[in-house]
Amino acid sequence: MNPKTFQKIIALITIGSLTLFWAASVRALSVDQVRFGVHPDKIRMVLDLSQITDYRVFALDNPYRLVVDLKSFEWRAGKIAKPGQAGIKDIRQGPLQPGISRIVFDMERPIMIGSAFLLPRQDDKPDRIVIDYQAVSETEFQKSKSRIHGTLVASDIYQTSSLNRPEAESAPVPKQKPALKTQEKPLIVIDPGHGGVDPGAIGIGNVYEKNITLALAKELKKELEATNRYKVIMTRDSDIFIKLADRVKYARDHEADLFVSIHADTINKSDVRGTSIYTLSKEASDAQTAALAEKENKADLIAGIDLSVEDEQVANILFDFARTETMNESKFFANTLVQKMQGNGMTLLPNPHRYAGFAVLKAPDIPSILIEAGFMSNRKEVERLRQPAHRRKLAHTIRLGIDAFFEHVQFNQKT
Ligand code: ZN
Repeated sequence: MNPKTFQKIIALITIGSLTLFWAASVRALSVDQVRFGVHPDKIRMVLDLSQITDYRVFALDNPYRLVVDLKSFEWRAGKIAKPGQAGIKDIRQGPLQPGISRIVFDMERPIMIGSAFLLPRQDDKPDRIVIDYQAVSETEFQKSKSRIHGTLVASDIYQTSSLNRPEAESAPVPKQKPALKTQEKPLIVIDPGHGGVDPGAIGIGNVYEKNITLALAKELKKELEATNRYKVIMTRDSDIFIKLADRVKYARDHEADLFVSIHADTINKSDVRGTSIYTLSKEASDAQTAALAEKENKADLIAGIDLSVEDEQVANILFDFARTETMNESKFFANTLVQKMQGNGMTLLPNPHRYAGFAVLKAPDIPSILIEAGFMSNRKEVERLRQPAHRRKLAHTIRLGIDAFFEHVQFNQKT
């Protein structure tokens, strides 16, 4: 045996033992099932998992692939039913590098990944990753392929894998989420909607939205501070007007870890009631939400501020690469919050997590959601929103959602 061969064997043994060491030190994650849903505008792929994990999802070409990287997992998916419309030729999976495994879906056509997000377990459904994608033209593919969804960080060592390695330029390693400093408490910015010259929506009995939002925000601040786990600041704690962009700027200047904007709506149907949660998106989830975002975005206009100047600046950076991770975190938080609300018996709108282009949710680096606490056009709901006991219950439930969200964030950092 010449010395070079000997060195190679030693290197292989080292890599092998390191892989074993890694495998043993990581909690057992398994991928238990892969399911597909065919929708008119997208294909939804769901990966059932044994537990929540970091992930990254992206597309590659030559040939077209959809790639899912997870912490090392055991593959228990068995036989997978692939509907023809899903456009999947083949599925492969295996270790990529110590601690990280990869699933590769060979695609028949170029695709664009619209979103990828985690859903925590609920009722009989396990923890899962949801990936929405659609077939697109080659041009659209090239435009969108560099987008990486998720926060998993893998080093650029691919030699231990028999699976295709991504080209360096098409799969840049995503930046780690700005870590909370270990000793520091997460900073939460609560944003009571409207104020001062802008009353917001006006409900039955001449109840002003700006007063409801401030009262609920104060309750939420108290609830969060009582846990001793968070630092909490508010964009306003009195009846003053603040521009939407300044609310976002306030959160960014303070390097907030979470932004929660609080509102209460009215609608011309008196029987509609329930809480709903909103995240940012270019396309609105439905017409009602599009109209709501338009209404909420007019807050500045009411105070006589020219929107066109500011809107152009934010519009340009709205859907760039850096934003994807933040938007996924926001969606995760919104879904978590919906579950806590359901678990606590709160009344929710149908499809309670909705999305549209809310100006106040445009911080590119801070997970942000907007809560419409309820409809002040419903007699029962406006009465409840005026009761401190009901606001306390709402605040308590929101706090449970925030607790669950930060458990996830800290999980990200420890691993
Ligand atoms: Zn509002």
